Amino acid sequence: MPQKEIVLSGMRPTGEQHIGNYFGAVRQWISIQNQYKCYFMVADLHSLTTLKTTKNIKEKTREMVTTWIAAGLNPKKSTIFLQSAVPEHGELSSILATLLPVSMLELNPTYKEMVAENPKAGSFGILNYPVLQAADILIYKASRVPIGKDQDPHLEISREIARRFNHRFGKIFPEPQSLFDEVPKIYSLTHPQKKMSKSHGSDSYVALLDSPDKIRSKIKRAVTDSGSAIKYDSINKPAVSHLLDIFYLVSETPIKKLEIKYKNSGYAEFKNDLAEAIIAHLAPIQKKYRELAKNPKKIEKILKEGSNKARLKAQKTMAEVKSKIGLLQF
Ligand code: AMP
Repeated sequence: MPQKEIVLSGMRPTGEQHIGNYFGAVRQWISIQNQYKCYFMVADLHSLTTLKTTKNIKEKTREMVTTWIAAGLNPKKSTIFLQSAVPEHGELSSILATLLPVSMLELNPTYKEMVAENPKAGSFGILNYPVLQAADILIYKASRVPIGKDQDPHLEISREIARRFNHRFGKIFPEPQSLFDEVPKIYSLTHPQKKMSKSHGSDSYVALLDSPDKIRSKIKRAVTDSGSAIKYDSINKPAVSHLLDIFYLVSETPIKKLEIKYKNSGYAEFKNDLAEAIIAHLAPIQKKYRELAKNPKKIEKILKEGSNKARLKAQKTMAEVKSKIGLLQF
C-alpha cells in the first residue's frame, strides 16, 4: 500500500473559536483524517508573538482542543499535539534560521504590516515566525498543508527553506504544497470587507460556543447592504453575499435556492432563518463540547499522548538533520 502523505496544520490558542476557524480550518482537517497522516498542532509558541497576556493560555488550549474533538477530530486517527511540548520545533528552527537572509524575512507582508502599524511591535519572534512555521512543517516531513491554492504563497518561505537545506546538506525535506483548490473564507459580521476574526469585537463573529440567543442577536445586528434584495453579488452586495455563504455552509442549501426562497422577503426573515440554521448546525458540536468539557483531564491526556507521538517523529527527523549536516551525535 502506498504511504499516506503527511499533513501538518496548527491553530493559535488565542481565545474563542469562531465559525471562520471552523469552516476555514477544523472542518477541512476533519475531512482529511482518513486519507492523510495528519498532525494537528496547538500553535502555542506562535501565539506568543501576538498575545497581550498569557494568563489564560492553559484554559484556551484546553477549550480549543475540546472544540476540535467535539467537532469531529479523532485523536485515534490524527496526532493532536502541543507545539511547546515538542522542543525539536525550536531546535530545527534555529538551524533553518541560518539558511535565509534577514532581508528575505523582512519582505513578509505580515511582518511589514505589523511594523507599519507600530515599529516597536516588530519583535524578532514575528520576523522569525515563518522560519518556526517551516520547522513545524518540515520536522514531520509534511508534504501538504490544508490551505487553499490562494494561500499557497504563504508556503513559499517553507519551500525555499526546504530547498536550501536539501541543496546544502542533502535531500531530506519535501517542498510542502497547499492541499485544497479552495477553502471557505468567512467574513466579519460587522466589517464585511474583512475576514471574520476576533479583532473587531465579539459582535463581528459567531463563536462556536455562542448561546442560541447570542447568535440570534449577532445575526440580527449583522451589517447589510443598501437595497433589500437578497442576491449574491460579492462586489455590490458583499455583506449579504457573505451571509449567504454562511447560510449555505450551515444548511447545505445551494445559494441559488436561498436567493429564490428569500426573493420577496426582507432582511428580517432571512436573518431570522439564518440564525436558526447556524444554531441547528452548531447544536451537536456544543452538546458534545459540554460532555467533553466535564473531563478536562481526558483532553490533556489526548494532548500528552499526541505530543509524545509527535516528539518521536520529530526526534527522528532531528537525528537525520544532524547527520546530514555532519554534527557529532552521541
Ligand atoms: P489563527 O486564529 O490565525 O491561528 O487561524 C487558525 C486557522 O483558522 C487558519 O487556518 C485560518 O486560515 C483559519 N481562519 C481564521 N479565520 C478565518 C476566516 N474568517 N475564514 C476562514 N478561515 C479562517
